[in-house]
Amino acid sequence: MKTSKFYISTLREAPAEAVIASHKLMLRAGITRKLGNGLYTYLPLGLRSLYKLEQIIREEWNNTAEALEFKPTVIVPGDIWKESGRWETMGAQMLKAKNRGEQDMVVSPTAEEAFTVIVRDGLSSYKQLPVNLYQINTKYRDEIRPRYGVMRGREFIMADGYTMNADDESLDESYKLYEKAYFRIFKRLGLKIIPVRADSGAMGGSGSEEFMVESPIGDDTLIICPNEKCGFAANVEKAWCASDDSVNKKGEKPSKTDLPVEMVATPNVFSIEDMEKFFDESPKMFIKALIYRVINSSLDMTGANGADKWKRVKDPAGDYYPLSYVCVLIRADLDVNEAKLAATLKASEVVLAEAEEVLEYAGAPHGFVGPITAKCPLVVDYSVVKDGEAQMHNAIAGSGKDGYHITHVEPLRDFVPYINADVRTVKEGDKCPLCGKTFYTRKGNELGHIFKLGHKYTKSMHVTFLAKDGKPAEPTMGCYGIGVDRTLASIIEKNNDEKGIIWPMSVAPFQVCIVPIKYNGAMKEVADTIYEKLTKAGIEVLLDDRDERPGVKFADMELIGIPLRITVGDKNLPNVEFKPRSAAEAELVPAESAAEKAIQFVKDELAKLQA
Ligand code: ATP
Ligand code: MG
Repeated sequence: MKTSKFYISTLREAPAEAVIASHKLMLRAGITRKLGNGLYTYLPLGLRSLYKLEQIIREEWNNTAEALEFKPTVIVPGDIWKESGRWETMGAQMLKAKNRGEQDMVVSPTAEEAFTVIVRDGLSSYKQLPVNLYQINTKYRDEIRPRYGVMRGREFIMADGYTMNADDESLDESYKLYEKAYFRIFKRLGLKIIPVRADSGAMGGSGSEEFMVESPIGDDTLIICPNEKCGFAANVEKAWCASDDSVNKKGEKPSKTDLPVEMVATPNVFSIEDMEKFFDESPKMFIKALIYRVINSSLDMTGANGADKWKRVKDPAGDYYPLSYVCVLIRADLDVNEAKLAATLKASEVVLAEAEEVLEYAGAPHGFVGPITAKCPLVVDYSVVKDGEAQMHNAIAGSGKDGYHITHVEPLRDFVPYINADVRTVKEGDKCPLCGKTFYTRKGNELGHIFKLGHKYTKSMHVTFLAKDGKPAEPTMGCYGIGVDRTLASIIEKNNDEKGIIWPMSVAPFQVCIVPIKYNGAMKEVADTIYEKLTKAGIEVLLDDRDERPGVKFADMELIGIPLRITVGDKNLPNVEFKPRSAAEAELVPAESAAEKAIQFVKDELAKLQA
């Protein structure tokens, strides 16, 4: 390819809204252009890298994950989402539309429903299972806050695989094949990946694993055990830690008290800090009580404190409460993790209640919410009660009366959990539950995800097959996703310098560029000869034949990030300059052997990335 025939569209400055390296460089190098908020066009240069990335995923999913590519439509009937129940629960991120016949349509945010329907309709016997299909296709999610360019776009490309399996063992196998494929894909892309498990790996059963890259702009917080042999790494939304004791100000474990609960007037004591001063005690002796508003919980809370007030909606995918409330109790030095709380409550979301709601469900304003007087179910964290045993004694808590706290509180004597669960936010400094070492944290960005879905969709969407024993059974499912654009951006985020992108060979838009200082005379001849040799050898070359100053051409090629530059200048002939993008200095080589050397360079670079 010659630049005169190609669309090179570089920018000296990135638009001000681009704040991270990959976003700036994708715009500056002419990889993407913004069309609207969260909407990016790939220009021809960017598309070359994007297709290579897709091809790597395709090869590994075909060969390692033993999957087959299919291509569902992007626009799908709303009916299939109504069947699964997600028409209601996906929320505002799902873009819905109506066609001319007034039928509900969905712009696919993901494709579990489409896969399930397509496989269901032809499925009769266990002999047809497992089915293992994937697509690499457009997705749309109406993200509230699209940002960082294609890292979190509204329209994006996802590689998404789905398996339907006869039983858990078969799902396990599919899951492991994909896991292996993921490691190979990221190796080929030169990305160091942190696999983050949702469970310890030892438990089996329903599992999930996120593939993260460490990144200061990451949306996720990772909790990591420093002990490499242990290898525990978890997303803070799922992480758990070893228990630590409640201790008083002197560092002693408090003992159980027989004293009855006592009301203490605490005027002007609102916060935990106020309590520390007033009671001259450690927050590890206080029980924090928080009223949460719970959205779309599918737990059955019939008979629970306050539950008679809530509407329970009938739904084929499982009945649920559009709105309910809980009071969360946790040791006051700890924070509630809302993702863990939402998962515990099988809810789509939890939010701290507003002042009026707190008054309604606690009888007192925030700060005085009490475990004994709450008018909604108690969700008690493991820091307060665990395995049927109180973890705190002689504690201090809100009284449920404005201006008062209570002392001598004994969990299980004075209140009992409606739900006892782990909802604390694990932090740096907490201890690993597997090996006891002290956790550190890192910001991470999720590039991919593998997930055992179990019977969620096959149940709600009524998929059955005749099992080996001749009885009808519901298959189990797995899903496997990689964010293609986000991965591409992450590669740039990791591989750049002040001049621009430094592509790994596997996804570089061109493998080699040839820059003649002037495209005429002997320089043109030499450049053309090398170009021909390389092209014949199947190397992807860009020859910069533009009538521009050499400085401009160098700057563009460096910005675009082509891994190798061969510069042809009459000063150096019969030698040419050989300069890997990542090397500080150029090397002079005879023009005659430059092509062979470049071919070897490309081979070596690709070999380094071989999985
Ligand atoms: P996130 O937590 O970042 O929103 P997710 O859990 O919603 O991700 P999945 O539903 O598991 O993502 O989708 C699979 C992959 O698709 C993600 O790992 C990510 O790489 C990519 N992805 C998800 N949302 C976006 C987006 N808005 N823009 C670009 N890529 C995305
Ligand atoms: Mg998301």
